[in-house]
Amino acid sequence: MKLGAHMSVAGGVHTAFARAESVGGTALQIFVKNASQWAAKPLPEEEIRLFAEERKRTGILPVVAHDSYLINLASPAAALWKMSIRAMVNELERCELLALDGLVAHPGSHVGSGESQGLKRIAQGLDDVFRRSPGLRVPILLETTAGQGSNLGWRFEQLATIRDLVREPERISFCLDTCHVFAAGYDLRTAGAVAATLDEFDQVCGLRDLKAVHLNDSLKPFESRRDRHAHIGEGEIGRAGFATFMTDPRLADVPMVLETPKGDEAKEDARNLELIRALAAGTMPKRKRAMPTEAWRKGTLKGAAKIARERSKARRDANSDAASGSGR
Ligand code: ZN
Ligand code: MN
Ligand code: MN
Repeated sequence: MKLGAHMSVAGGVHTAFARAESVGGTALQIFVKNASQWAAKPLPEEEIRLFAEERKRTGILPVVAHDSYLINLASPAAALWKMSIRAMVNELERCELLALDGLVAHPGSHVGSGESQGLKRIAQGLDDVFRRSPGLRVPILLETTAGQGSNLGWRFEQLATIRDLVREPERISFCLDTCHVFAAGYDLRTAGAVAATLDEFDQVCGLRDLKAVHLNDSLKPFESRRDRHAHIGEGEIGRAGFATFMTDPRLADVPMVLETPKGDEAKEDARNLELIRALAAGTMPKRKRAMPTEAWRKGTLKGAAKIARERSKARRDANSDAASGSGR
């Protein structure tokens, strides 16, 4: 199976391959530009050349990109919608230059304009994107979402509707995020649930058009419509769920990448990948100590601050007690 992780491109897009290699990845997801900025300098020729070289050297295939967080093709606001279309065209062109296998994109948020209006707007936006990028080979992979706020794409039907509405449906495929679908209300905790969820995806969108999977456990409960990623087996989906998911023969040829929390050295990626590979091979390795999540780190900081506050209050109280002479 092709398994990997989303990797940083700090130092140039080509640097992601060495990072993927260091954790034993055979698939890869990257950003092709800064994901929290609209503007981007053109990709330098040298970087494109190095990217192709590194890809050949490591043999890491396939590579997908994830689109910028700013893009919202469902936006009812004309200015943001147009910026989103231009940005999406730019992302597609960059993907094409790097010969990537897909551009994963969140469908968009209707921001109060309603579901059907939002879906129409996305399809119109995609039509415009495709019209401005004729002949490009790289497909857009619409990603299943958790349905947080007014995010669309949390029902498989919504993804299918978008594809039905666009003029060039052959340029649309899909990406399934395990955390998102679970939070959206498609269960993955048991063998039966995984089978039912994949059956439903197949009937509505078609597994033949599933070109990537995002492997994330969910920090938030089933049907919570909240998007918070957890390490594999350490969230609400759990190891049993991933064990069936990873061994479903229908997913054997779908590249999968982690988007789980990680520190600077990506030790977490290596460990999550190791677990995922073991589960895919049909084994259930011994459980290790849970890895820190972002919430855990924040919680620890908060906890430490609270202890410090309590200690200094106790010290102050002791001092004032001493000053007033009232003991015990
Ligand atoms: Zn995504
Ligand atoms: Mn995802
Ligand atoms: Mn997410």
